[in-house]
Amino acid sequence: MKTKAAVSFETGKPMLVEELELDEPKTDDVLIKMSAVGLCHSDYHAQVGNRPVGMRPMVLGHEGAGVVVRVGDGVDNIFPGDHVVLMFLPSCGKCPWCLAGNTHACDLGPTIAKGPQPDGGYRMHTKNGLDVGQFCLLGAFSEYTVVHKQSVCVIDKDIPLEAACLVGCGVVGGFGAAVNRARIRPGSSVLIIGTGGIGTNIIQGAASVSATTIIAADRFDHKLEWSRSFGATHTINVDKENLVERVMEITDNRGVDYAFEAISRPETIAMAFDATAKLGKVVVVGLTPSTFDSLPISPLSLVLTQKTLMGSLYGTSNARIEIPKLLYMYKKGQIKLDELITNTYSLNEINQGYDDLMAGKNIRGIVKF
Ligand SMILES: [Zn+2]
Ligand SMILES: [Zn+2]
Repeated sequence: MKTKAAVSFETGKPMLVEELELDEPKTDDVLIKMSAVGLCHSDYHAQVGNRPVGMRPMVLGHEGAGVVVRVGDGVDNIFPGDHVVLMFLPSCGKCPWCLAGNTHACDLGPTIAKGPQPDGGYRMHTKNGLDVGQFCLLGAFSEYTVVHKQSVCVIDKDIPLEAACLVGCGVVGGFGAAVNRARIRPGSSVLIIGTGGIGTNIIQGAASVSATTIIAADRFDHKLEWSRSFGATHTINVDKENLVERVMEITDNRGVDYAFEAISRPETIAMAFDATAKLGKVVVVGLTPSTFDSLPISPLSLVLTQKTLMGSLYGTSNARIEIPKLLYMYKKGQIKLDELITNTYSLNEINQGYDDLMAGKNIRGIVKF
């Protein structure tokens, strides 16, 4: 069948919207009609080459939700008509990490940016017969996509798919970093550097477990204003104020109990470290470009202050359990999703959407099909 998709043909060049050939689902595949896809920074990193991908052309997009059209013979728990959220990390269900419930660390992780599906084959092709990769095994910037059943999470049909798509990456990633990885304790102080799709959900996570001091830091005043509506109690504009000094003022010179870096730069990770109290936790959530290979953090200070420096991937979550749980919280009014969507684009406007993201105009922009 045919599908219209935003295709990344060349590193650093805008995506081109083209008609592709899409294969019918194979044994373990699911054919999905996409409804909405979030514009996440990770796609941008892949597009500009900060994060190497295995091939071009490739269809990016990994924060998607849609409706199942057809499934392969080997799929017995997903049915046509099901509403689904795509998971950017699949879970094989067989590796030691999956067996222990840590699907966020599945051995399939390193394969997701290569391009082909888990069986080594391709489902998308150009009109000239060129194979097209699917970023994160998904390729969600497409009217239709075919993905492996391991990448699919079925959700309730009464949830708007525009809101649901965000849970596939940003919400699980941010909320989970706060709740599952850092395990923020009630009454504690928290710093979040970067208030985009991930950072805003770290704020929501911190607020949901009753952190009392939630400090949001960003370069844009309007984003800081938004972050207050998600639970931030203090804000710092890093272009106008010294971040570490300001955090010390707010916390009686102790530093925060938990600091999160959601910008992906070594110097802001170091700021997060410096702004953290003794025995505190520093959580790196942003995917720093692979060209950076070290952190300007004092090893002596690490020991003397007994801080813990940790990473968090996919919210350190078992997404198949976490996605429905977060959507239930949304239905109960315990987390906000609709308010995360600051702009909606057509597929043809996708490059504009990324320009707006980089200009700080969005918490999340989404492509609506
Ligand atoms: Zn993402
Ligand atoms: Zn696994």
